Amino acid sequence: MLTSGSPEYSDRETRSGFFPLPRDHPAHDEGPSSFPQAAALELRNVSKRYPGQKEPAIPGLSLSVEAGEVCVLVGPSGSGKTTAMRLINRIISLSGGDILIGGRSVLDHQPTELRKQIGYVIQQIGLFPHLTVNENIATVPKLLGWNKARTEARVRELLELIGMDPDDIGPRYPAQLSGGQRVGVARALAADPPLMLMDEPFGAIDPISRARLQDEFLRLQEQVRKTVVFVTHDIDEAIKMGDRIAILRQGGVLAQHATPAEILTEPADEFVAEFVGEDRALKRLGLATLADIELLSPNGLAPGPARVPLSATVRDALSRLIAGGGSPLTVVDGEEQVAGIVTLELLGSVLGDGALGDGVHADGSSVAAERES
Ligand code: ADP
Ligand code: MG
Repeated sequence: MLTSGSPEYSDRETRSGFFPLPRDHPAHDEGPSSFPQAAALELRNVSKRYPGQKEPAIPGLSLSVEAGEVCVLVGPSGSGKTTAMRLINRIISLSGGDILIGGRSVLDHQPTELRKQIGYVIQQIGLFPHLTVNENIATVPKLLGWNKARTEARVRELLELIGMDPDDIGPRYPAQLSGGQRVGVARALAADPPLMLMDEPFGAIDPISRARLQDEFLRLQEQVRKTVVFVTHDIDEAIKMGDRIAILRQGGVLAQHATPAEILTEPADEFVAEFVGEDRALKRLGLATLADIELLSPNGLAPGPARVPLSATVRDALSRLIAGGGSPLTVVDGEEQVAGIVTLELLGSVLGDGALGDGVHADGSSVAAERES
């Protein structure tokens, strides 16, 4: 089941565009047991009451995620995020409602079969310590009965995809390795599942490594275009990672389901407004880049020593301007060519105009990107 947002994985030609491997490469050999297409996910009035609990953890949740979309499920601790994930892959059973993957109810599958079709990444990584990285990544392909050549090729492909050297890292054991979280992601992607569930995958990681893993995952997602449900309690992570965000409140109730820009501009209620924070205007600046605004012409102004890439967010530029005592910044493109000048006054007028509001559409896409296409 495909929507416009997802690539046609069934097309070998398209896939070999993503992965620079020969056409007859075994990793591309899609047998009956691999799941190449991203699938839409639909929660229909899903409820869960744990045995012995008075109140349901989730009283009735409806949510649609398009194929190839990253839906971030965000909310305070205890709001039912993990419960929702475990209902999707049937680690726990539904009390009511239904969940459809690619239009088919999860209840139509044996739980063990279902779980082979869903990539699952959790905070605790869960790599098997007694298996090598290669063997860890091969877990699901092995369960699916892939032959050796195909499995090995797929493992190599995934290690390369996450930027690890297969010959160096593959034979190691998890204890001999930093970056286990990336291997966890590779393992979840191994059988090319149509759906990935990621429950606070980067939750226990220091902020710098975390930002790097987030960037890496977004790059990876550009290539693999999975349908992803990504859980976090961190609104900044939600804004960065989500095509759309579903905000849960205590009691497992959906407070808002919208794009990051919509949530920051028009929080549905007090709870959402408080959850996204007083600094939501600043956060919104984090969604626009310098490429989205009209820069001052460099004419006449000597390019200063302080440079900032065109790809920087308006928020980062503002922060740099303030830190630099208001000295102008020279904006450079990917080829280090001067694209323009940004000053505090310019940003002030852009903000005052609401021009930035026009720079970012409600869906988070930029006007500049549109101009280019
Ligand atoms: P989150 O992941 O958003 O922090 P959870 O889904 O873990 O929230 O928990 C939602 C609610 O369900 C909480 O009130 C929690 O105490 C309860 N809960 C979670 N797991 C269980 C369980 N196994 N048995 C009983 N109650 C549970
Ligand atoms: Mg949780």
